Amino acid sequence: APRIAVMTSGGDSAGMNAAVRAVAKSAILRGCQAWVVREGWEGLVRGNAEGEEESTDGDATPPHPEPETLPPSVAQPPGTSEARRWRGTYGQGELLREGVGEAEELGLKGKYILRVGWDDVRGWMDQGGTLIGTARCAAFREVAGRQRAARNLISCGIDALVVCGGDGSLTGADRLRAEWPELVAALLERGEISAEQAQRHRHLKIVGLVGSIDNDMATTDMTIGAATALARICEAVDSISSTAASHSRAFVVEVMGRHCGWLALMAGIATGADYVFLPERPPPGDWRADMCGVLARHREMGKRKTIVIVAEGALARDLTPISPDDIKAVLAERLGLDTRVTTLGHTQRGGKPVAADRVLATLQGVEAVEALLEATPETPSYVIGIRENKITRIELMHAVQQTQLVAQRIEKQDFDGALALRDSEFAE
Ligand code: ADP
Repeated sequence: APRIAVMTSGGDSAGMNAAVRAVAKSAILRGCQAWVVREGWEGLVRGNAEGEEESTDGDATPPHPEPETLPPSVAQPPGTSEARRWRGTYGQGELLREGVGEAEELGLKGKYILRVGWDDVRGWMDQGGTLIGTARCAAFREVAGRQRAARNLISCGIDALVVCGGDGSLTGADRLRAEWPELVAALLERGEISAEQAQRHRHLKIVGLVGSIDNDMATTDMTIGAATALARICEAVDSISSTAASHSRAFVVEVMGRHCGWLALMAGIATGADYVFLPERPPPGDWRADMCGVLARHREMGKRKTIVIVAEGALARDLTPISPDDIKAVLAERLGLDTRVTTLGHTQRGGKPVAADRVLATLQGVEAVEALLEATPETPSYVIGIRENKITRIELMHAVQQTQLVAQRIEKQDFDGALALRDSEFAE
């Protein structure tokens, strides 16, 4: 049976567990083995230090029963491949309770690439963050690190990989895919893999899922985790609003989004904020004068509170960064407002995913497995997206490049061009 592995990488986002669950369960339903890679690219580079390889007992694929009719513990003695397929390797709830990284008693120390069963991911849908861990990995930026990652994938017999992460992680995925034939040839030459392994793994099947709270990936309308982050921001701004109104204060609320103002803009709309600062749509002219004009008018109309939302990466027209403290100083000096700054920080990453993120992660996880099963050496690697409420496949390389182009256009002060590019499926 083909072995499909799934990993999460880069910044965590709500819905990553739902994505892992969906990939694992649909892989199993499609007669594949489901595997996870702990700790993102770092885990892939480290591999299974013990060198213990998975036995191939699951390779014969018996026609499996419907999940509802399964009495796994009764029907299959533990330890058989069919039992493992359904009951899981680690047992119901254990991975969940401990977080995979802590589970030394499960024999996971030094093991990063693990086979999982149906029950291993049970109950993951509503859990925040990522239970299989995520990391930033410097080694994977070097060829030597990607070489080790390739060797570890091949020695575990992984045929296909789903990577759920932001544009950095997916850039890494694209690199691995592009270099794959050279990596395999080098491993073969050094005797680290056999000729048979080189033959079986001559193509890397890889699919990306976009897990990012910023909603910053071009070519897709929503990323996994953005809806939850937005919901948390709205809750926080609601709380701030009531105290602001009580004391007739101004609040400057900083939200995440380095190159993308989606969270700031949507939070501004959803909370009725007075003014919003974004990286890709700087205020016209002098931002101080523009902001003060708007806020003074709102006060004159009788508003007792002032809420300004500022994205982390907010810029003035001349590309100088605008910080919450800059804004606070202007509000205090020019408008005489009692002003406080609130940086929402990591609370925005979310916790429990909202329904929209569970649905998105599940639909996309299922589609990722379908894309891998249909992949041939001729088909490109895809990122699974969503456009106009339809799940889509966009070429991985294209989505990554277009996202980088958006940032470049902002740097050239081509703000309209940047927005047009992020919204369009294909670069002109
Ligand atoms: P995100 O995926 O959330 O954007 P990062 O940008 O930190 O997060 O990327 C996560 C990881 O992806 C990095 O730590 C690194 O291992 C890998 N990565 C990012 N960019 C590249 C690149 N250009 N080449 C290879 N690997 C990369």
